[in-house]
Amino acid sequence: MEHWKLKRQRFADSPGTNLPEPNRNFCCQHASSTRSLGCVGLRLLLELLFTLSKQGLNPRTGCLLCRPLENFHAARIAQRDQRSTRGAEENEVEWLGSLNQSVGNNLERARSQTVNPGTITNMIKSGHLSCRLLLSLPLVLTLVIGDASQAQTPALGTAKHPIIDSKMSEKEAFDGLDPKCPDEIRKRQRLITLKYYSMDKQIHQGQLVIDRDLKSDIKNVFALALKEHFPIYSVIPISDKRFRKDNRWDDELSMEANNTSAFNYREITGGGRLSNHAYGRAIDINTFLNPYIKGDLILPHGAKYNPTVVGTFTPDNPIVREFLRLGWDWGGNWTSPKDYQHFEKPLKK
Ligand SMILES: [Zn+2]
Repeated sequence: MEHWKLKRQRFADSPGTNLPEPNRNFCCQHASSTRSLGCVGLRLLLELLFTLSKQGLNPRTGCLLCRPLENFHAARIAQRDQRSTRGAEENEVEWLGSLNQSVGNNLERARSQTVNPGTITNMIKSGHLSCRLLLSLPLVLTLVIGDASQAQTPALGTAKHPIIDSKMSEKEAFDGLDPKCPDEIRKRQRLITLKYYSMDKQIHQGQLVIDRDLKSDIKNVFALALKEHFPIYSVIPISDKRFRKDNRWDDELSMEANNTSAFNYREITGGGRLSNHAYGRAIDINTFLNPYIKGDLILPHGAKYNPTVVGTFTPDNPIVREFLRLGWDWGGNWTSPKDYQHFEKPLKK
């Protein structure tokens, strides 16, 4: 145990950390797009503020907000003046005249104020009420958008907000399944969600398809791995598009990606009979770090078994011990082949 913990400290330099990232960017992209939205909104508001600072209370152009109102009423008064001066209309003209007077007075007051147009603070203090409200709006919205952006981008990689490696529906998890898979086997499979500490020292969340009787064993093992900070690279069902070849589930592609998976209706490596993976009763973990070795054949291609690299299984590893305690068999204990990634618990006949 102590030996394993010392290895943990060196894993930043391990080959596993240089493997291709399967899907680490989804959440980060989402976060940056949220931030971009906030930035665009803020930029628009600042541009509006800038425009108003140039024109809003400039004595030569008048108030940007009041000018259209003033023009509108002046036009209506002119129209009314040209019409007959019947009683009802006289009253309306009188009312419009007083309104126009009021608007004119406001404009005069704004023009007479000794405001430096470039000073936003002065504009807010001495502008019309509508100007004050509008000029205050960017400040309020900036605060609101800032808070909203922060609320939508919590720190990822924690137990509360794990990095999501897989979020499939039931249908997606079995899409592309070999049609030869018997219905009784398919019906025993369960899609479960798991959290794990990964190579980037963050907490991730993935999914596994496993026989219904082995759910609690797997949850025990993953809880221990999380507690011990034993890194698991990714846990993504093999039906994922990245692990397809000719639209069929491909174990080799999953292994090359250092991915962890369980159910796969297939024969054992080399063929001849169904693997325990075909029943959802075997799991392969950190497959690139823990290869299958038979003579000169090493799978996945390019992998190398190096017990000093963290994420690699050895007989003293707590995960291996926990699997054995729960009655599972470990391929690292076999003579030939050696299958370091493989743990299985066959159905009792
Ligand atoms: Zn296996």
